[in-house]
Amino acid sequence: MPVSGLGPYDDANIFAKILRGEIPSRLVYEDGWAFAFHDIAPQAPVHVLVIPRGRYVSLADFSASASNEEIVGFFRAVGVVARELGLEEPGYRAVANIGAHGGQEVPHFHVHLFGGEALSGRMVNPRVG
Ligand code: AMP
Repeated sequence: MPVSGLGPYDDANIFAKILRGEIPSRLVYEDGWAFAFHDIAPQAPVHVLVIPRGRYVSLADFSASASNEEIVGFFRAVGVVARELGLEEPGYRAVANIGAHGGQEVPHFHVHLFGGEALSGRMVNPRVG
């Protein structure tokens, strides 16, 4: 059961549609565990979303319910994406918004990768900073 307070997984959410190829996205990376694409409303010069292929509403749900293989596969993919985008050396920010207080809008777990310039020192999503 989801533990995020977002309710059960909704197969009609926009990232589920992207995963199924029903709506387009600007693909950055994909493997058996993860799918990465450019955010449609970038908040930094590089703003990429990395999502698991599995049906998890949030980080809370993913961490509680995903298999060890899914968790390892997903987080290794997050690192690969950042490396392949050239973000690792200058540095970047990884953010997961969870639930209402976290400002999560899309109920499919995703990690935001922000980079391409020195970011605000605040530990928040630049959009709401
Ligand atoms: P969050 O508020 O953490 O749920 O973030 C959702 C993110 O999804 C926002 O940064 C949106 O700009 C982004 N987004 C929404 N629809 C799309 C889409 N069709 N393609 C790419 N990014 C999207």
